[in-house]
Amino acid sequence: METSIRKHIEAIKNGDVKLEEFVSEVLERCEKVQSKYRPFITINKKPDLKKSKGKLAGIPISVKDSICTDGIQTTAGSKILEGYVPPFDATCVANARKEGGIIIGKTALDEFGFGTFSTNCAYGAPKNPHDPERACGGSSGGAGCITAAADFPHIAIAQSTGGSITAPAAFTGTVGITPTYGRVSRYGLIDYANSMDKIGVIGKEVYDAALLLSVMSGYDPLDSTSSEEKTDDLTSYVGKGIEGMRFGIPKEYVSDTTDKKVVSGFMKAVQKLEVAGAKVEETSLPLTKYAVSSYYLIAISEASTNLAKYCGLRYGMQQEIVGDFETYFSKVRTAGFGKEAKRRILLGTYARMAGYRDAYYLKALRVRAKIIKEFKSEFKKFDALIAPSMPILPPKFSEIDKLTPIQTYNMDILTIASNMAGIPSLSVPVGKADGLPIGLQIMGDHFAEGKLIQIGSSLEGR
Ligand code: GLN
Repeated sequence: METSIRKHIEAIKNGDVKLEEFVSEVLERCEKVQSKYRPFITINKKPDLKKSKGKLAGIPISVKDSICTDGIQTTAGSKILEGYVPPFDATCVANARKEGGIIIGKTALDEFGFGTFSTNCAYGAPKNPHDPERACGGSSGGAGCITAAADFPHIAIAQSTGGSITAPAAFTGTVGITPTYGRVSRYGLIDYANSMDKIGVIGKEVYDAALLLSVMSGYDPLDSTSSEEKTDDLTSYVGKGIEGMRFGIPKEYVSDTTDKKVVSGFMKAVQKLEVAGAKVEETSLPLTKYAVSSYYLIAISEASTNLAKYCGLRYGMQQEIVGDFETYFSKVRTAGFGKEAKRRILLGTYARMAGYRDAYYLKALRVRAKIIKEFKSEFKKFDALIAPSMPILPPKFSEIDKLTPIQTYNMDILTIASNMAGIPSLSVPVGKADGLPIGLQIMGDHFAEGKLIQIGSSLEGR
């Protein structure tokens, strides 16, 4: 079966695809991939095929399981939401369906997005198609996994708070776009940290990601933080060339803590950008060293309030009601939340306590304001900043087991600042080391997705 979205679209236009047969073949293939790599929490056995025209007509789409889908179980990777079937679609899903996208399933993630390797998923971690002993990255690990493993045309809807699109894209050798904060409506997303959450995409090629992102983007009255900025057809930027562009490499992103093999793969790709006519210089983002600690303070503070609504009464898991509300509430939450969620609830609640709020959460917000300024001044000098996507090659599950929480949090060092600043980034695969994929990320100014697509596509097929 053809895996190229562009060719698949042609075939659909020419009437060469019988939709029902095609979809049942795709679902069979999903089952096979599932038994090998476990990218899904739910495969949608009866997709809606009524809408057969539109920009995504006949294209299989997977949705990260923290995004609500009408009539399809949505768990956010947590036992506390097991059995929850939303009665509505998130706006991004509704937009995809309106354009004929076919929802084939819900992909695995770290519980509520809390993690970097998808190993905090209550339904089992997806395995990396390049080496099943290794992780796919996270938290959108299932999205990266199915995109890399699919032997059929497919694009994934993913989500990022602090790197959850870039990490899996890098580790699975796929293309991930994390758009500007507000570019895609968050309506129907199960919140992790509202002030940073972004819905984005993972695809096999830059074109695929650009296509789905164009369809999902735009103002939505149901999300007061969604932007009114005009969204154009992002696919029109694919292959436009980068002659004369200027890129900065922040020196903090290629430091001693970044794996040498990753740096060398990255530097080879930089040469290709130079050959294509770009000018590349070293630059510096000195505030990088404060990013991880301030990000985690903001993230856990917001997460701990968001999780308060899971009390076993309104959604998902329920238990026999015995004792008063507090007793019931803690019984359900003890059984329903995993270890990392509990850790973040405790830490986040502590950080928001009256006596500590100014010292922690508000101070972290001030650091974020400075980080935004730092990026903004770079974009006066450069068209984009480029760096390795992740500081390591995809790790083995046995290696992840040995990491402390702080060591895991530090793995996000290259993705967190841009997410805090709400700027867009695109991760594109740039070759391999030891048979494992390496990703290069391009960070741009707010609403510069088109330019990122232009740059990312210039590295494809080189
Ligand atoms: N690894 C980061 C965290 O655990 C980012 C995850 C995300 O973007 N959802 O918070």
